[in-house]
Amino acid sequence: MSSIACAPENDPPIDLVTVGDGAPQDRIDEARAVCLACPALMRCSPLVKRMDVAGVAAGLTRGERLAWQERHGVHPESTSLLDVTPARQITAAMLDDLPASGGGEIHPRVRDLVLRMTKAGMSADQIVDRLGREDITHRTVNYLRRTYMKGWARVSDIA
Ligand code: SF4
Repeated sequence: MSSIACAPENDPPIDLVTVGDGAPQDRIDEARAVCLACPALMRCSPLVKRMDVAGVAAGLTRGERLAWQERHGVHPESTSLLDVTPARQITAAMLDDLPASGGGEIHPRVRDLVLRMTKAGMSADQIVDRLGREDITHRTVNYLRRTYMKGWARVSDIA
């Protein structure tokens, strides 16, 4: 069973995605109640408030989240799930929109992701496995760390 209350396998009493801002108040309240009882609320909230997803999420309607984004200058169209997910929790499915590297250059988004994963304490093995890309090998990870992270040249876990 998932720790996410709105996951289908938990059979939530209401499908949060279908609850728009124009829904009857009792449906909105019922959807909010699912979130307020959700063990993942504290993790979910900072993520979905920076994205544009349908329905009630993190206890807020889409309209309430858009108003929050307006007040805080957040532009969800430029934010992907990959960008807002903690490095260690990034899954293979989130990597689909990651651009290919070309011309012998590592794409800056890929480079930044390797550095984020490094800062999160992931080993070179873990990074190479998680990304599963031909352009990200132990040697590449080593190069990126030495080039962009001062003092990383002597880490021991790099082949
Ligand atoms: S807080 Fe987030 S994860 Fe939990 S039920 Fe609400 S939308 Fe789903």
